[in-house]
Amino acid sequence: MVELSTSEEYAEKMRSFLMQLSNKLNVSLNWVIDIYYWLSDNVKAREFQLEDEANRPTRAEIIRIFDDGKGVVGVRLRFSSDSRRNEYYYTTVGKYGAKCTCERNMINGKVCKHIVAGLILMNVINVLKYGRVINLDEFRWLSEGGKGGLREDS
Ligand SMILES: [Zn+2]
Repeated sequence: MVELSTSEEYAEKMRSFLMQLSNKLNVSLNWVIDIYYWLSDNVKAREFQLEDEANRPTRAEIIRIFDDGKGVVGVRLRFSSDSRRNEYYYTTVGKYGAKCTCERNMINGKVCKHIVAGLILMNVINVLKYGRVINLDEFRWLSEGGKGGLREDS
């Protein structure tokens, strides 16, 4: 792991990514930031927590990180359901596509909050490991399906 010189630098890189993500998804920045905080409160991952991860909730877990040696290219995650006990959703997000087993939470049949969380997590790991923000232009599936199709109220 590469240590960042300041936490301000980290925050700036996260902010820049979250703005890029909200533009790509055509949703408000606040909606994306909400998912960022929801994820950071719930994920069990040393990469995400800059401090001790003991006593953290474990509603989200990293199963696998895909890395091609130049950057993070995908993640596989497990989320526990918000509403049903002992129910889990499996989410895979990568450069060439994304899928999530939750289905009913899908927005416009394409992206749910777990997938958005996966993209955010990929960026967290990429910034910490490679010092770079992920370029969402390489995620062509995000732009497919037309503009304005995503709804924030789903
Ligand atoms: Zn989902």
